[in-house]
Amino acid sequence: MTSLGDAWRLASERIDRLDARLLVQQVATCTHADLLAHAARCLSVEQVARLDKLVRRRAAGEPLAYLLGSAPFHDREFLVSPAVLIPRPETELLAELAIECLRLLPAAKVLDLGTGSGVLAVTLKCLFPEATVSAVDVSQAALDVARSNARRHAAEIRFLQGDWYAPLGEECFDLIVANPPYVADADPHLGRDGLPFEPQVALTDGIRGGDGLNCIRAVVSGASRHLLPGGWLLVEHGYNQATAVRHLLREGDLSGLVTWHDLSHLERVSGGCLR
Ligand code: GLN
Repeated sequence: MTSLGDAWRLASERIDRLDARLLVQQVATCTHADLLAHAARCLSVEQVARLDKLVRRRAAGEPLAYLLGSAPFHDREFLVSPAVLIPRPETELLAELAIECLRLLPAAKVLDLGTGSGVLAVTLKCLFPEATVSAVDVSQAALDVARSNARRHAAEIRFLQGDWYAPLGEECFDLIVANPPYVADADPHLGRDGLPFEPQVALTDGIRGGDGLNCIRAVVSGASRHLLPGGWLLVEHGYNQATAVRHLLREGDLSGLVTWHDLSHLERVSGGCLR
């Protein structure tokens, strides 16, 4: 017989203590408070086996979010699966900047390119119900996750499958946000911190010896054709890509170029507007 308390303690010897607690809670469908108040409660044999499997996967480096099936982003909880990138704290900067834009124009037409799990599109639609939000992704499996998240948060969003602007015809927007793949193919980061478990197509353009900027090039070069006058493009990028991205924005006929720093003081989001 294994109690909740024992299960947590034993799992903590194999993986991070917080991760262990969250996995125990998941398997026992209980809260942190239950775990403390009813530490003597016993897990079933089946639950113990399921926990052991999860702890083993976590110990092998699989990200906690995939094991739990959800991850937090900007005050909300989102479903995630290995079909989508796990939402990153640095992307909350992009959300904050988009929110600032929408405060000035709450009924804006918004486009989220490469929506993945849909965190940006859903967050913006929830905060600005008058906005019209469209979200594009090339991956049908990612769109399925994004649709589930939209349903879960009762956010009405138009989802389109395709390559960047391809499914949009000549349609124009007040605000375009994008967190495209931007990690360079040879970046050793791709082999660490659970990234091998994430969809590589969401992380890198996969171009051998490239600079990782190919998707950002596609997003920026199409922006002036898809922005309304005065509209903004905000794009997330790598810590060392800001100068190159501003150059692309300038070449793409955007002005008022700005780069913002994330909470780690790294240049993380750049943007420009169509005059
Ligand atoms: N910032 C993420 C990372 O370094 C990458 C996100 C992305 O490529 N859009 O893991």
